[in-house]
Amino acid sequence: MTAAENWELLAQQAREFTPDVVVIANEAHYQNLREALRGTPTLVKAGVDAIEEMATHSQVDVVVVAIVGFAGLAPTLAAIGARKRIALANKESLVVGGDIVMRKADAMGIEIMPIDSEHSAIFQCLVGELSPLRRILLTASGGSVRDVPIEKLGSVTAEQVLKHPVWDMGSRITVDSATMLNKGFEVIEAAHLFRVEGSEIEVVIHRQSIIHSAVEFVDGAIKAQMSCPDMRLPIQYALTYPERMELESIERYNPFTMGTLTFERPELERYPCLSLAFDALGAGGIMPAVLNAAGEIAVEAFLRGKIKFTDIARVIGSTMESIDNEPLSVVSQLYEADATARAIATEALTARKTIKL
Ligand code: MG
Repeated sequence: MTAAENWELLAQQAREFTPDVVVIANEAHYQNLREALRGTPTLVKAGVDAIEEMATHSQVDVVVVAIVGFAGLAPTLAAIGARKRIALANKESLVVGGDIVMRKADAMGIEIMPIDSEHSAIFQCLVGELSPLRRILLTASGGSVRDVPIEKLGSVTAEQVLKHPVWDMGSRITVDSATMLNKGFEVIEAAHLFRVEGSEIEVVIHRQSIIHSAVEFVDGAIKAQMSCPDMRLPIQYALTYPERMELESIERYNPFTMGTLTFERPELERYPCLSLAFDALGAGGIMPAVLNAAGEIAVEAFLRGKIKFTDIARVIGSTMESIDNEPLSVVSQLYEADATARAIATEALTARKTIKL
């Protein structure tokens, strides 16, 4: 078991599950963690290298990559290199490094099990199918400000945005859900995982979050995966696939009491970040890395009250415009693109009045 910062929760979980080893990425917490686990058989390690060491450890069968952000790419590649089955919850590995990750997974004969609820749903729809899919229907909640009139979006506060209607998530992803940048990332992830073009992915707003995504086949048949929203299901499925395990405490969907399922087309004036993500996917190369880095800078600035909600798309769009794309061949290009995009996006935060979109 590994964690980045939260050594207290890691210690608590280690006491409950007694793993052989725990790793805390931030070495400053090493002594605290060691102290908290004194007298237990669990070995305590610290540092990013130790995390990579665990991801490739000979006794590990499945690596659940739940590291947030770009930092998830290196351990994912390391685990694939060590022929581990990957249960992937980290978005950036595929959004930013999808070409490289999928190429390496193919070369090593590794299957990547998605944990993201939409991709798990698509994966589940495809189990047992031998014919290619025609179209993916990627569902979206529409985010926390989906009913705010478009002309008022400029004045929504971080507090308003952070109240998500369905999922309880971290703050960045909640904002990314409100702008649908998150859905854009998921479009890019789906394109890599299921080897489809952007034009074969339809984003559908589905407010009830019961259908987690659907797949259409050449004969017009559509398969959807449905359940009450609960991340334990996709996480467990990634671990138990191809089998399913009892999940007793999950709320069961009741078609008689849970009402109507609705579907809407996302308005692109409301969700410009979604268009930017489709652009980045179409452009390929380093552009998804630029999208991701600029998005992170913009969202952080919004959360700190430095820019308006509607400036998020403007900062990302202007950053993408100012960077020349290049075809992707090595990982180091991604780190370079990430750094450049962060610098340009940071400038765009304050220079925003001079940027024309
Ligand atoms: Mg998702």
